[in-house]
Amino acid sequence: MEFNQKGTKEDILYWAKRLYQKNMSPSTSGNISLKTDKGILISASGTCLNDMDENDVVLIDYNGNLIEGNKKASSEKIMHSEIYTKRDDINAIIHCHCPVITAFAVAHQEINKPILPDFALFYDEIPLVPYYCPSSIELAEAVGKYFEKYNVVLLKNHGVVLGADTLQNAFYQLEMIRAYCETYFGAEVLGGARALSKKSVSEIKKLYIKK
Ligand SMILES: [Zn+2]
Repeated sequence: MEFNQKGTKEDILYWAKRLYQKNMSPSTSGNISLKTDKGILISASGTCLNDMDENDVVLIDYNGNLIEGNKKASSEKIMHSEIYTKRDDINAIIHCHCPVITAFAVAHQEINKPILPDFALFYDEIPLVPYYCPSSIELAEAVGKYFEKYNVVLLKNHGVVLGADTLQNAFYQLEMIRAYCETYFGAEVLGGARALSKKSVSEIKKLYIKK
């Protein structure tokens, strides 16, 4: 399938497959959505992100009501809608249980060590949202609150949620965070992940401002 950036069902199918194929969303976990003029396009409940077709992407309003489609929307639909309601600049959301990122959420550790320049460029920390039952209103509201300040959060003992302007950027950010986590664990095995100095981090941040 060709990649297109207009914000269509095809986009969701394309990036959903890439998420699954990179082992970022195993089995039937994870959900993915896009803001459109008509509402929120979101993956259906209980689908494997690799095996979806057009019928597995449905349109809902901001209260989670089905507008178009024959399937139930993802059970995390309220979490997606909370984020879009809070943030005009976010048009695409990925929620997944990427094992190597979720390991931090299970160890109850936020991701905050600037071990790599590309991480330091975008993030000071990726915080940990307290545990609430998956699909609950409480989880949706807690995540919405964190998104007033952050574009990506860890969900304690659950997974990760990331919002961006496009699905392509959401995917690339998530892939970069996954690479960070893999590098971190490898470095820990080899004797310890060492952080960049404060000076190096501030140089990197200045580069970003200059762009
Ligand atoms: Zn989940």
